[in-house]
Amino acid sequence: MTVLKILHVPDPRLKITAQPVEKVDASIARLMEDMLETMYVKQGVGLAATQVGVNQRVIVVDGSETDKPEPLKLANPELLWRSQESKDVSEGCLSVPEQYAEVNRFTRVKFRYLDEHNQTVEREAGGLLAHVIQHEIDHLNGILFLEHLSALKRQMLLRRALKVTKSMAR
Ligand SMILES: [Zn+2]
Repeated sequence: MTVLKILHVPDPRLKITAQPVEKVDASIARLMEDMLETMYVKQGVGLAATQVGVNQRVIVVDGSETDKPEPLKLANPELLWRSQESKDVSEGCLSVPEQYAEVNRFTRVKFRYLDEHNQTVEREAGGLLAHVIQHEIDHLNGILFLEHLSALKRQMLLRRALKVTKSMAR
């Protein structure tokens, strides 16, 4: 497995809409493995292919709220249903280092995807998993969580994230 390089704001590749996966073959399965490895190394709870510069609709998540890991690998994830209820949750993003803000997300969602064996899976989730799925699908559509904030707040977090990435590059 390989730890992949994560793109940071303001990289324009983060704004690209990813292409559907035709089939989860060995190369996509390998990508999923590498993304999961990268996500755990960086201590994230989700990662989209967009964030590693791959223009494919692939995400990995771990919405476990216990000590037990619950890795999920998803190709072509799509929301089938959203709850009426929504909630403000604190979010961060590996592409916007060390910045957090409250984002309004649906509390429960149903979603469909292709797993690592190219099988179609449908699931319903609440809690952290529901939030992470929404955040990662946004990435595949070129949307960062910053886009859900006011312009003022967005600019502030963007400026702070740039400072962090500059110090990381040093
Ligand atoms: Zn993110």
